[in-house]
Formats: sequence, structure tokens, C-alpha cells
Amino acid sequence: MVLILLGPPGVGKGTQAVRLAEELRAVHVSTGDLLRAARRDGTELGRRAQKYMDAGELVPDHLILDLVRDHLAGVPNGVPVLFDGFPRTTAQAEGLDQVLEQSGRRVDLVVLFEAPDETIVKRLGGRRSCPQCGAVYNVHFSPPTVEGRCDRCGSPLQQRPDDVPATITRRLEVYREQTSPLVSFYEDAGVAFERIRADRGVDEVYGDFKKSVEVAR
Ligand SMILES: [Zn+2]
Repeated sequence: MVLILLGPPGVGKGTQAVRLAEELRAVHVSTGDLLRAARRDGTELGRRAQKYMDAGELVPDHLILDLVRDHLAGVPNGVPVLFDGFPRTTAQAEGLDQVLEQSGRRVDLVVLFEAPDETIVKRLGGRRSCPQCGAVYNVHFSPPTVEGRCDRCGSPLQQRPDDVPATITRRLEVYREQTSPLVSFYEDAGVAFERIRADRGVDEVYGDFKKSVEVAR
């Protein structure tokens, strides 16, 4: 089974993906992880991707698709695969269809996680992380004991430049421009499609998510 998770940044789809992947013993594919692994392992693809990242440019689709193809080659066909935050564009979705076809797979289900913009802005805007130990906090939902200080190591917490309100709003706009055509792409292709409201508790969201996956299996 191949499952694609769509949703804006900060909607919590990564958390849901990790949980489902554990439960189904599925392979969880996030392109960020693939890129980091390729760089760390110093593969040819990793070195080529690094050049774009060093120049502050987006890694081109064909390189990302090559990474996905290589990764899938090592996954037995019976093992479910979850794509988290990929594809982002219709061009990537078309490329992914080809890569899947080459390995005898196809997309079985697309799940779109949705939340109002205010919720996303609050979630992302409240995020603080520790540059020393990597601990992540949220000033609204999981604040540190002492304001602005890491519970684990006492270092001053930082906000990622990506997580300031103006940037979040822009990220949401980009997401919407790219994702609306993607939704039509999969609906037109007749792929099973589920929308899940993600502005609820993690367990509640997961319950609905799992149900829709079980129906599609
Ligand atoms: Zn820390």
C-alpha cells in the first residue's frame, strides 16, 4: 500500500505519519530525511543535492525523485509506504507515479490534513527550540518551566526564522498555491481521498486517520 499525506506546515502530519508507520511497520518517506541521509552517507545523489542547498536553491524534482527511487528499491513490495509532505506539486506527483509504476506500486490513498490558519500560526509561531540539545517547546502548548530557557540544559531557546508570523503566512500561501492543483490531480485520477480535520487532539486525529487507512487497505 502507498499512502500520501498532504497538509500545511505545522498541521501535525509528521507526528501522525510516525505513529502509523510504527503501527503498520511501514516505511515513512520524508524527502527532508532522504536528503539528510544522502548527505550524511556522502552518496553521489547526496553530493549533487548538496550543491543546490549550499547555493540556497531548491533541490530539483528529478534529484528528489531519484532519491525516492533508490530508497524504494530497498523496500520489499508488501511493505506499506507513507509519503509525508511529498509530493508538493503536480509535477512531483506525476514523477512519483512513474517511479511507483517502475517498482510495481501505485498510490492507494491520499489523506489531506486540514486546520484553520489561526491554529497553524499559533502552533508554528509558538515553537521554540534549544540550539544546544535540540529539545522543542511550544509557548502555548508545551512551554519550558522557565520562560525562554531549555528544561534539559538551561540554554536560551530560539525561534526559527521560518516560524515568525509573516513567514508563516507566506508559507501557507505557497502551500495553498501548490496543493490545490495537487488535490484535483489525485481526485481526477480516481485515487481514494480523505480529508481529516487536524485541529483536534492527536489521538482523535489518529483515530480517524487509521480508520481511513483501514478502509483503503
Ligand atoms: Zn537544551
